[in-house]
Amino acid sequence: MHVIVCVKMVPDTTQVKIDPVTNTLVREGIPFITNPFDSPAVEEALKIKDNYGAKVTIISMGPPMADAVIRKAIAMGADEGILLSDRAFGGADTLATSKVLAHAIAELSKANTVDLVLCGRQTIDGDTAQVGPGIATRLGYTQVTLVDRIISVNVEERKILARRKTDEWHEVVEARWPALLTIERDANRPRYPSVPRRLYAEEIPIPVWNNYSMRLDADTIGLKGSATTVKRIFAPEAQKGEIYTGNGNGHQELVDVIVGKLAEWKLTGVDHG
Ligand SMILES: Cc1cc2nc3c(=O)[nH]c(=O)nc-3n(C[C@H](O)[C@H](O)[C@H](O)COP(=O)(O)OP(=O)(O)OC[C@H]3O[C@@H](n4cnc5c(N)ncnc54)[C@H](O)[C@@H]3O)c2cc1C
Repeated sequence: MHVIVCVKMVPDTTQVKIDPVTNTLVREGIPFITNPFDSPAVEEALKIKDNYGAKVTIISMGPPMADAVIRKAIAMGADEGILLSDRAFGGADTLATSKVLAHAIAELSKANTVDLVLCGRQTIDGDTAQVGPGIATRLGYTQVTLVDRIISVNVEERKILARRKTDEWHEVVEARWPALLTIERDANRPRYPSVPRRLYAEEIPIPVWNNYSMRLDADTIGLKGSATTVKRIFAPEAQKGEIYTGNGNGHQELVDVIVGKLAEWKLTGVDHG
């Protein structure tokens, strides 16, 4: 089996600074981490490797320093990683991001057929949860989103049984390979890498694929190939509050005050005229 895990490097802070001209992230001076949804995806891939035997490949699209998130996954037990990095990939929205990732997966599949792709459910910076489904759609893979448990893998029949977590209930879904699954953050507790694995991961070469090797049409990737642009990013202003303690005349007095305020703010049809 060949399992690919898509891992994104994200800022370890909510205080993201945005370039006022391009409306993209300013990376200088910000600590970066593995997207917290992606380590559980790596852990699920490693459990498949432990239980059924699989090669686990990590891919990440990002700046040169994003090799750190690949090395972390290799320290956990993944076999190898590939960094997709080129200025031409920068500023990508989910359409352009899924294009580059899907192309890389298709290329990897030529050498070693890809059976499963695991993504995090979403990132903590872009928050769209669109990239996984975008990759699956481009590749024509079966997709199963919101997976909080991989129940079993049937290698002979090339099928996977997974549990989806919705707001109301759990669903158990059987899916044919090749399939892409997006994994919930609470699916498992990712393992800690051992010291020897950490040292190994520090040394292992991470191949970098740029657009010279990938040969994608420059108009369909990065900022140029993005159908959306973030126009403005801001924290919503805190609303002013008012506290009524009343004059000791019981609940009715407080109810009257609140109903009066709702009418003043035109939030009720009650006529207090
Ligand atoms: C504040 C902010 C707002 C944004 N809003 C939008 C928006 O509204 N629309 C839009 O199209 N783009 C938006 N972007 C850009 C967006 O971050 C990028 O397109 C990004 O590459 C993927 O989108 P995402 O982070 O939402 O990923 P999601 O779709 O939330 O990610 C799901 C999973 O896909 C995989 N994945 C995602 N990106 C990568 C990667 N680069 N390398 C490897 N695996 C990856 C991971 O497994 C991840 O867990 C925004 C960015 C920021 C910082």
